[in-house]
Amino acid sequence: MLKLKEKDTNLFYLASGFANEEPVYYTFQQIAANVGPGWSDILEDLCVKLLHLGWNGGYEQIKEKFGTLRFYWINNLSGIKGDIAYDCVEVAEWRSGMYCEMCGNLARQREGGWVLTLCPECAVKRGYPINKYEKEELLLKGKITPETEVVLRPENA
Ligand SMILES: [Zn+2]
Repeated sequence: MLKLKEKDTNLFYLASGFANEEPVYYTFQQIAANVGPGWSDILEDLCVKLLHLGWNGGYEQIKEKFGTLRFYWINNLSGIKGDIAYDCVEVAEWRSGMYCEMCGNLARQREGGWVLTLCPECAVKRGYPINKYEKEELLLKGKITPETEVVLRPENA
């Protein structure tokens, strides 16, 4: 995964939608705080790629929705660079659906009111359902005990 050289630099700005307003600039840490820490690497890798292509750092919203990263950026690129950038965003959003938003471990999307992408361990911590195989694995690894309260997914879900 690619890393930003200067995370503390105000490289990113929130597009207000009003052309006459001064944009508000943010550091990587500030924009990364819009999603869970488990997706920080995916987001950083994406930002490095887009900045390398010539992105000016403008965005409208960065958030989690239905268990995946949503990256609404201002496309100031044209031609092939714009096409590549769109693909980079798509790949990052797709990858986020396979990694725990809380810890970055391999994960799956889970229904628990709000759809979240969580590894089995983080799912248990947040009261989200896991299946019986995930429960067995957590028990074997000593991540939970038989006394741990676990929400089990219905057999065929
Ligand atoms: Zn996790």
